[in-house]
Amino acid sequence: MSTNEFILSIDQGTSSSRAILFDAKTTLIHVAEQEEFKQIYPHPGWVEHDPLDILTSQLRVVQAAMSKIKEEEKVLAIGITNQRETVVAWDKKNGKPLYNAIVWQDTRTTEFCQDLIKNGFGTLIKSKTGLVIDSYFSASKMKWMLDNVTEVQTAYEKGDLLFGTIDTWLMWNLTGGRSYFTDVSNASRTLLFNIHTLNWDDELLNLFGIDKRCLPQIKQSADDFGQAIIEGVEIPILGVAGDQQSALFGQGCWKVGEAKNTYGTGCFMLMNTGNRAIESKNGILTTVAWSVGGQVTYALEGSVFVAGSAIQWLRDGLQIIGSATETESLAISAGDNNEVVFVPAFAGLGAPYWDMNARGALFGITRDTSIADIVKATLEALAFQTKDVLEAMQHDAQKELTVLNVDGGASVNNYLMQFQSDMLGCAIQRPAQTESTALGVCFLAGIQLGCWTLEELTEKRNVERIFTPRLSDADRTKRYDKWLKAIEKTKNWKD
Ligand code: ADP
Repeated sequence: MSTNEFILSIDQGTSSSRAILFDAKTTLIHVAEQEEFKQIYPHPGWVEHDPLDILTSQLRVVQAAMSKIKEEEKVLAIGITNQRETVVAWDKKNGKPLYNAIVWQDTRTTEFCQDLIKNGFGTLIKSKTGLVIDSYFSASKMKWMLDNVTEVQTAYEKGDLLFGTIDTWLMWNLTGGRSYFTDVSNASRTLLFNIHTLNWDDELLNLFGIDKRCLPQIKQSADDFGQAIIEGVEIPILGVAGDQQSALFGQGCWKVGEAKNTYGTGCFMLMNTGNRAIESKNGILTTVAWSVGGQVTYALEGSVFVAGSAIQWLRDGLQIIGSATETESLAISAGDNNEVVFVPAFAGLGAPYWDMNARGALFGITRDTSIADIVKATLEALAFQTKDVLEAMQHDAQKELTVLNVDGGASVNNYLMQFQSDMLGCAIQRPAQTESTALGVCFLAGIQLGCWTLEELTEKRNVERIFTPRLSDADRTKRYDKWLKAIEKTKNWKD
């Protein structure tokens, strides 16, 4: 790649569409202003997006990014990263969506999923997909559309129905309907993909009543996904990955045991487990991280439901802070009173506790407890929850972490990062380039293009700051034990 050649990353998220240009040194050159699109909530627990809204907002930001390219410059390849699990159904004859996209957060199929669990399908599904049976994943959403939407049924009967996750929907449209593909990382979030054979699984397709003809062909994450036509110019799509896997790749976690944690609304932690798909005994998911050059890499994935959203609650719910940024100085001002512990189990506890009846609680309050103490306890809750997930993951992987790579909105908070390092007893590495998600598919597309190898990328890795543990082992244990004591008290609270 020369200095006037670029890679365009398309980053299609749950609330907004973004487009980012990277140069030959993988330096971020331009971010088109993100476009938010409408979240549709037709009923409690239902979450939808208009597929055309996703597409048009994405096309607008792509055009905005492309407008920065001068005459003598060229975009060599496109990478696509996307919100995972969300499903679109459309007609292959005219490209029209047959229903709104059903978003990963949508819980309309919970009852169906619970029936599958009751009927004992959990073990089979876990062993084939690495996932748990949950409305979160794509399969039951596709089944719901087939069972409930006349347009979807009619298109199916005519042989015109296409299902796809957002990567597939975007590339089908960008290529004028020529590319009907997905990548292994996206496929591995559908509940229909066998992570060992790396194919759609006939038994699972039967179980959910999905016809293989309505599903895209699965490719590697660095592969040839066809030519997108952008403003009349053909640009190959060469990298595709789900957002969390893309962030793991973008963080440079290419070796076994390397991990990243994204501190956003929730936290997503992924650990590279190499060519081994490790089945968790602690409620952590097994997923395909990516496939490059014929080699598949697996990951363990654990999430924290309430992370940055607890900070939002301080701001918008309790209104005790003006902005998320203030939390750092407030926490520092609280000093070393460590009595207050906050468990933000607003909607139950996730991995490794899995108690949907747990509810949040503040412990250790006295007459002189201040807003600063509560803010500090909230930040610390993000770190404690991350430790809970990491402990479970390390147990499954039989691997001790020495460095945790971080990104996401709350990773800019130095108090939080220092405390995270103190709690984990390992280094926290914050990259200079925090756009890890977009960077991941830029790396993948560049590999497919032959611009760079992983070794070359490793040399370019740019760390902004490393936090190292300052607490003694005894103090760490003391603080964590108190957290565990608080967790016990929040369990099974709801009647
Ligand atoms: P998402 O991709 O889930 O929308 P982001 O990665 O954009 O999330 O991060 C936004 C979240 O980070 C918000 O929940 C916000 O409360 C939190 N956040 C942003 N800045 C800070 C900060 N300085 N300290 C703590 N939390 C922060």
